[in-house]
Amino acid sequence: MSDLRELYQEVIFDHNKKPHNFRKLENANHQADGHNPLCGDQITVYLNVEGEVIKDISFQGSGCAISKASASLMTDSLKGKTVAEAENLFDKVHKMLIGDTTIDQQALGKLAALSGVSQFPVRVKCATLGWHTVHAALKAKEEKVSTE
Ligand code: ZN
Repeated sequence: MSDLRELYQEVIFDHNKKPHNFRKLENANHQADGHNPLCGDQITVYLNVEGEVIKDISFQGSGCAISKASASLMTDSLKGKTVAEAENLFDKVHKMLIGDTTIDQQALGKLAALSGVSQFPVRVKCATLGWHTVHAALKAKEEKVSTE
């Protein structure tokens, strides 16, 4: 178990240091800003959705390692998924983050690296900020969200 924990920490470290899809998306047709006042995390997500499929997704922002790594892992996992699949995945990730043990972490792939967050309830908002912001972006073209 400690090996797994080290591996997870490494994944979070790498994604924080070199976040994937960390840029503005020029052809975005959905966009939203998110803010987690508890920690000071700020994020903007950009999506290019064609029909029901998330063709491309990116983000920019500043915040703690958890918020950045979570958003980076999220963009990797959501690219190519349908909007319904994305909402379903958010539901599973959220359950994992609040410590629901019925979630099959293996099925979540690299997102399982965030499972340790369930030990730190105050960080759950950091880890879900990107996801909440994507949810808002998919509902509206532009909207401010806050975890408060
Ligand atoms: Zn944070």
